[in-house]
Amino acid sequence: MIWNYTQPVDIRFGAGRVSEIGDAARERGLYRGLLVAGGHSVRSGLAQRVVDSGRGAIDAVFSDFSPNPDVTEVDACAELIRERDLGFIVALGGGSALDLAKAASVIGVGSRETVGSIRDYHGTGKPLPLGHLPLIAVPTTAGTGSEVTCVSVLTDRAAGVKAPIVSNGFYPELAIVDPELTYTVPPYVTACTGMDVLSQAIEGYWSVGHQPICDALAVHAARLVFDFLPTAVERPDDREARERMCEASVIAGLAFTLPKTTSSHACSFPLTNRYGIAHGEACALTLDYFTRVNAADPEGRADALGRALGYRDADGLADAIADLRRALHLRESLADLDLDEPAIEALVRDSHHPNLLNNPVVITDDILLDLFHRLASSS
Ligand code: NAD
Repeated sequence: MIWNYTQPVDIRFGAGRVSEIGDAARERGLYRGLLVAGGHSVRSGLAQRVVDSGRGAIDAVFSDFSPNPDVTEVDACAELIRERDLGFIVALGGGSALDLAKAASVIGVGSRETVGSIRDYHGTGKPLPLGHLPLIAVPTTAGTGSEVTCVSVLTDRAAGVKAPIVSNGFYPELAIVDPELTYTVPPYVTACTGMDVLSQAIEGYWSVGHQPICDALAVHAARLVFDFLPTAVERPDDREARERMCEASVIAGLAFTLPKTTSSHACSFPLTNRYGIAHGEACALTLDYFTRVNAADPEGRADALGRALGYRDADGLADAIADLRRALHLRESLADLDLDEPAIEALVRDSHHPNLLNNPVVITDDILLDLFHRLASSS
């Protein structure tokens, strides 16, 4: 077996460490910072706290973007970077804030004429320039692991496309993972983001790009989710559950950023795009189905993962995923959407994302039709 492992992000983990942003910027010689802050961070006063504790490191704030950020919002942020000649970015928020900041950190460095719009690189396969502003990523959800990945997931609402862009220029310089920032995440968002962690760990493990270091990370992260997500949802102020879910999130990010995600992520994009289903909930909805499908993989990755996590095999793991999803009161079907045949066919068509090619079993349209018919009819 031949494999490479690279992890270029410095990671600082622990309660209270959000206060280190200003010093970390100065240590790195970073000045004229832009704070990209999600809606919650602004409303709760956290963004202002970060600006104040940065003691002059932050010069501007950008918060005009939506969950599942749009390509136009990236271009607007890049324009601000150019106008104000900003020197680095602090991204504070969930995956939406981090992903927008990553993309703007590249688009904002050159002139509009040379680098263009993020639209030129979204779903087009055109490689992004590698030049970028340094980024300090500070997640406020325990979910995406975006603080350590080279991925930015963006939406082009006008074109009806949600898709990831992968570029080595997206790796943050530094990730500051402070579990205290997640105490305010409401139970439903905690459940969705936690199931995103599980999906990333599981898909990273069985991806055709799997490798031993990422395998070990995936098993560790997935076990933490089964052990601590229910408590984090039921008791949002449980310090241990929040901390262990943050640990799971950053480690799942490391587990999947090289092998990449697979089938559940491919199917999640149209579910979010067409029906507004939250990202983690959309991934979780198909994860048990694909675990059973992937039991047919001759390499036996799904079975091996099931056993590594303490279940009898892939079926045992699929049952545990479905049980966890039910316990968290997340969506178990699409029956409420009254999907007709053209709507099911559109979901199949829009699931044809390159991530499908990372799945260990070839995912045919018949498999996707079976999946979406089952979800449409079960209640
Ligand atoms: P999010 O960033 O969209 O946030 C979800 C909601 O939670 C928002 O309303 C936000 O304001 C709120 N919120 C965030 N932090 C909070 C806090 N501490 N307290 C209270 N409310 C808070 O959700 P997310 O799941 O973190 O990110 C999802 C996005 O990340 C999707 O676009 C998804 O596709 C993408 N994603 C990216 C990667 C990657 O590697 N780049 C991986 C997985 C998913």
